[in-house]
Amino acid sequence: MYKMMTPGPTQVSDAVLDARSLRFKQPDCDPSFVEDYKQLCLDISRLLHTDHETFILGGEGILGLEAACASLIEPGDHVLVLDNGIFGRGFADFVEMYGGVVTFYSTDYREAIDVEAFTAFLKDNHDFKIATVVHGDTPSGILNDVDAITRELKAYGILTIVDAVSTLFGEPLSLEHIDVLCGGSQKVISAPPGLTLNVISEDARAAINNRKTPIAAFYANLKVFFNYYEEKWFPYTMPASDINGLRAAIDAIAVDPGIFDRHRRIGEATRAAVEAAGLSLYLKNGFSNTVTAFEVPSETTADAILSTMLKDHNILITGSFGVFAGKLIRLGHMGNNANENDMTAVLSALDATLRKLGVPLKADLAEVFHQSLVQQGLI
Ligand SMILES: *Cc1c(COP(=O)(O)O)cnc(C)c1O
Repeated sequence: MYKMMTPGPTQVSDAVLDARSLRFKQPDCDPSFVEDYKQLCLDISRLLHTDHETFILGGEGILGLEAACASLIEPGDHVLVLDNGIFGRGFADFVEMYGGVVTFYSTDYREAIDVEAFTAFLKDNHDFKIATVVHGDTPSGILNDVDAITRELKAYGILTIVDAVSTLFGEPLSLEHIDVLCGGSQKVISAPPGLTLNVISEDARAAINNRKTPIAAFYANLKVFFNYYEEKWFPYTMPASDINGLRAAIDAIAVDPGIFDRHRRIGEATRAAVEAAGLSLYLKNGFSNTVTAFEVPSETTADAILSTMLKDHNILITGSFGVFAGKLIRLGHMGNNANENDMTAVLSALDATLRKLGVPLKADLAEVFHQSLVQQGLI
């Protein structure tokens, strides 16, 4: 098996794999399964420093985005879609699918949303019921200041949906002004793909309970989960093995207080290496510490880089998609991948790969990475 250094899914620990292979409890008729599920949800909320209630849904991260939209949006609702990346813009598809009327706030994909400019925009344009924004837009690696953005939105009574699938537990985030937070199992959390998290405020719960129209979904309907604990009943049979794996992954995060710091140091050192070697980072600012995207050098192609990395070094990295297809290469350093050994292996393999493909490098990628960590005092 190759070393999986993509920006999700990530490498999964033996503890998580072992937990997934255990005999599992009967999720429909064993009340202790409901207790386990509830405890895991409480622990996730506690780790996020919030009283907002967590729900774990059986489905990949996209289900969380769709469930947030399906559950909150009623036909005719005006929804502001913040767009400085592929997932940011992509929210509009779900908004329209559930009858919402989209207004885009579109900005340069190379820059984080400028909070001052956004605040000025809101002053004259705030007739929205809901707004959607992405914390870390993974195809480019952009990180938005979601704390400030959601504070401004909530000041106008706008409900906020935040996609933090790729950043949750890798970048600090306050849930204070977030009404529905979306997370996924396969990014920083470092469990296999298969589960999504929705963390819901009281305002979101009230808005969902007070809808005038029924939710036009079942699998993407958060309301059908609201009373699971009182009723000891789930709307569908919960994926018990996936949840056992998530339990082990969350346990690892709970005993890892340095997790943000490690992501920051690894992210900084990776960017330092890419720049020192003369490669071009795609972004101008707003770098997420979970993924680094650089431009494909003119001497070669994305396919050549990815296939050489895999063939010569047995390391899987990835390109990007949509408007970035063929233009960017992405190194995933989130969750279990955010460590010195794995990133050193990636960068020395990338160094050899690029030189083999005729790309001149001004510095040794792995050496600069190491020196940067030394300077930061990590080693
Ligand atoms: C990974 C990810 C998702 C889930 O989408 P997939 O393409 O199915 O993996 C949603 N939002 C963001 C920002 C992500 O990084």
